[in-house]
Amino acid sequence: MSSVATTPRFKLNAHEALTDPRLQRALVHARNFVPRRAAALERLPEFEALRDSARDIKDHTLAHLDLYLETYERKVLEAGGHVHWARDAAEARQIFLDLANARGAKRVTKGKSMISEEIGLNQAMEAAGIEAVETDLGEYIIQLRNEAPSHIIAPAIHVTRDDVEADFRKFHTDLPTDRDLARPEQLLAEARGVLRDKFLSADIGVTGANFLVAETGTSIIVTNEGNGDLTQILPKVHVVIASLEKIVPTLEDAAQLLRVLARSATGQDMSVYTTLSTGPRRSDDPDGPEEYHVILLDNGRTAMMGTPFEDMLRCIRCGACMNHCPVYQQIGGHAYGWVYPGPMGAVLTPSLIGVAEGGQLPNASTFCGRCESVCPMRIPLPKMMRHWREREFERGLTPAVVRYGLKAWAFLATKPTLYRWLTDVNLRVLALLGRKRGRFSWMPFVSAWTDTRDFPAPQGATFQAQWRARSGATE
Ligand code: SF4
Repeated sequence: MSSVATTPRFKLNAHEALTDPRLQRALVHARNFVPRRAAALERLPEFEALRDSARDIKDHTLAHLDLYLETYERKVLEAGGHVHWARDAAEARQIFLDLANARGAKRVTKGKSMISEEIGLNQAMEAAGIEAVETDLGEYIIQLRNEAPSHIIAPAIHVTRDDVEADFRKFHTDLPTDRDLARPEQLLAEARGVLRDKFLSADIGVTGANFLVAETGTSIIVTNEGNGDLTQILPKVHVVIASLEKIVPTLEDAAQLLRVLARSATGQDMSVYTTLSTGPRRSDDPDGPEEYHVILLDNGRTAMMGTPFEDMLRCIRCGACMNHCPVYQQIGGHAYGWVYPGPMGAVLTPSLIGVAEGGQLPNASTFCGRCESVCPMRIPLPKMMRHWREREFERGLTPAVVRYGLKAWAFLATKPTLYRWLTDVNLRVLALLGRKRGRFSWMPFVSAWTDTRDFPAPQGATFQAQWRARSGATE
């Protein structure tokens, strides 16, 4: 992928993001998803029951993954399509390039697909002399800017309207320079006009899949722009690239998941387009591709099964966890440095690329628990981030100051009398030192806090002392 950074630079990236006023202005829009989701849930009293049902569907599917994948493959073949199994990103890229080269493909249109970001498909196509054209508006904008998506459902959320106008003027040089691009609808119309020719002249259309249905061999995508439909219907060849865990047993199961997906993602009751594709065009179909291929990617998913991270495979990529995450809301997605940002990325990234590369991300959490509370699939994200922190610690990847700090805390935590005495003394000293101003603007060891906000001077006894006093406990 065209990553803007690598995950080991997370802290630096986060600092840059926090001090970037343009990005901070753009990120205000990410917070709009929160009230929209809340309003959508108000309209659906059975939402909590639907979450349970959605979780159970995915848990059942994962417990019988081999069975459903084999059924899915059989059904795709029966419908006249082809299934290609890819163990990792390199295999998936090669399968796609072989398909494209064998057909002499020169231009490929693409619907939004995080999996294609994960495998670096655009870069592979570019190296092979094939033009990749993103057709989702957000993806198109960031492709012009040579950037990676910063959100899994709103890839250009870090870009302002002014940025888009400037980019369109810079890249659409064959259009009149005095054209009016002041309104979002005008930008949309221009992108639509530019992309129309690309849709009509593409040799292959690539989409991801929100769900793959085992009982029918169907792939399902949801979009709000209709670009996915044009991508998969107009070219002669449609290639679906999806990871294994997108499988669900039946169309009814997919319908259940669709009911929680859009509400959790954008606050819509349903996305504008929900498109089902089963095999290539039949003789009596008015349109559709002549060839239909599915590349099924593992890339570390099966290795997550049976581990504390298996629950992550329930993720339906709605983005609710990042929309509600106070860390994501402040720094956006690029700071995470790889394909998947926010809390889901903090769990998935180390699972897919290793804790040495992605181990900083599980630390990007306040553990407020909002991500888990809004996740439609009830994925215990904070618990899994804790697991990753443990592994990072066990492998000696945690910074020395944290390791020794934790060791010191563990020593004290097993000696309650000493712990209480030390915290009590500490509290009294801080209360004395801070009594004039009531706060500290600088303090040793916590300068990361005091750099941006004051540290309040203690006002009373420690929490434990107050609790003991109230409960009458002696220990
Ligand atoms: S972890 Fe949950 S909330 Fe986050 S993207 Fe996945 S399904 Fe949505």
